[in-house]
Amino acid sequence: MYFSRSQIGLFCLCLFLGVSACKKNPFKQWAGTNDDNQTYPEGHVGPRKVVYQKRTPIQYPSMCTKENALSDLGDITLTIRTREKEEPTTLSFAGIPGNPLAYKGLGTMLHSQHVLHTYKDCSVEGNGQFTCNSSEVKTLDPGKPIYICDHNPKPNTLEHEVLTAFLGLYQLKVDFPSDFALSETLFFPLLEDIITPPDGSTPLVTPLLDNAFWSRDGNGIQRITFLPTSRETERQFPIKLWRQPALGAHEGGHGIFSKIGAQLLTAQNSLREAMEEKKDATEFDDTDQGWITFEATAQASAKQVFTRTPTMASVISSFNEGFADIVAAIAMGLHMSYFSGGFEYGNIKRARDPYSKTTDDQKIKALTTSTLKHFFSTAASLPPHPLTPNHQDTHTLGAIFAFTFLDLFREEMEREHVEEGEYIPRAREKAKKWISRLDQAYADYPARNTSDADRVRSGNPEELLEQLLRQMVLVYTPKNRALSDKQCRIIQDHLPAMKEEWKDNVLASCF
Ligand SMILES: [Zn+2]
Repeated sequence: MYFSRSQIGLFCLCLFLGVSACKKNPFKQWAGTNDDNQTYPEGHVGPRKVVYQKRTPIQYPSMCTKENALSDLGDITLTIRTREKEEPTTLSFAGIPGNPLAYKGLGTMLHSQHVLHTYKDCSVEGNGQFTCNSSEVKTLDPGKPIYICDHNPKPNTLEHEVLTAFLGLYQLKVDFPSDFALSETLFFPLLEDIITPPDGSTPLVTPLLDNAFWSRDGNGIQRITFLPTSRETERQFPIKLWRQPALGAHEGGHGIFSKIGAQLLTAQNSLREAMEEKKDATEFDDTDQGWITFEATAQASAKQVFTRTPTMASVISSFNEGFADIVAAIAMGLHMSYFSGGFEYGNIKRARDPYSKTTDDQKIKALTTSTLKHFFSTAASLPPHPLTPNHQDTHTLGAIFAFTFLDLFREEMEREHVEEGEYIPRAREKAKKWISRLDQAYADYPARNTSDADRVRSGNPEELLEQLLRQMVLVYTPKNRALSDKQCRIIQDHLPAMKEEWKDNVLASCF
């Protein structure tokens, strides 16, 4: 039996993690044109999360004291990543206290929490993974308040890095003031997973690093956690994660989804839990959803062929990720000023950029038949080239939906000659409308059975994906009016796999 991190919902940016789940599932042949016929190697791929990485969190110089902290932040100059480069930018935080830092709807803000998650009664499976039968959580430090003393904090200080991470969440709160509320926002906590091998050898300790996540626990406590950056990652990639404010806004987007898409989120979680109950533990490695898989040895896992089962939960997850990218784009002002080309990391500059028509391998960002075949494949595999997006990662599919949604939005604004000042409120309403429609579409889903576990067995994820995607296009389709030529071109370019599915309905005029 495996353990989740005791949250019922946990969604992350997962820039480089993310093999997902198990079990055989018949793949429906998606027909379509405009396909790149991309092929992917089958199986023989190790997990993308190497659990016992020797990574060390960066420690920032300690914070100033309450006595010296600003009662009102006023104008603050921060070095943030704008297009392709970092530069100092002065931003107004007027009315926000820095003694300690607080903002309505973001809950208690703390830094440097220290929590140990110890896994016990472990055995080693034949495939080299640990299976543990119990776990224990111990809080060594509940975290400390954040004090900001300087209008011009130096980069690489705790104050500066906290503020750049906070910026995206703050921007999102301005645009969606009542659509999400957190109990806590945690900056750079040390969350360590500890496992004692069954032979009694030295416990293995792994800190969670280089990522961020939104989570909600069994008590309904919602929090966003910005994990520390590791020295190793920072050396390898010169881009500082938390100087991209869109990342915080993306996590807040999951909070909004949890409210507007409440039924979808429940389904996403319960379907995964149902999978968990009936899965063969050795098959399950859904690290991008917060599941922890312990690799006893890197060698053992390298030889392993991973299988996965894309479920309805995987489909809902991809819409959740796409929505979070859309609201992050809205929070960033629907322009590129805060985006460095989306979520930039290593070589990835375009795959998660909601404004880039192409991915990093210069291909059109599109849901093709081969994209879907890869997503619904039961063999876990990496793309053939590092610049080719991994379509088994729900974030990648979500990024295609986000681009298509925003491209349809742009087309509508231009066609209706809407003033630019109206863009943000309009986009906000469209995005919220889309998720309410998705939520309704799921409630009406014809395969609905008596229990969520039944739905996992009998539900058709391919059909659900088509229905949810159709709701996205229908947000832009007034009743009794055909889609415009430009709208059709966007759909043909970016959703070619839907041709067969949509040829007999309201969207048929496009194909
Ligand atoms: Zn996410």
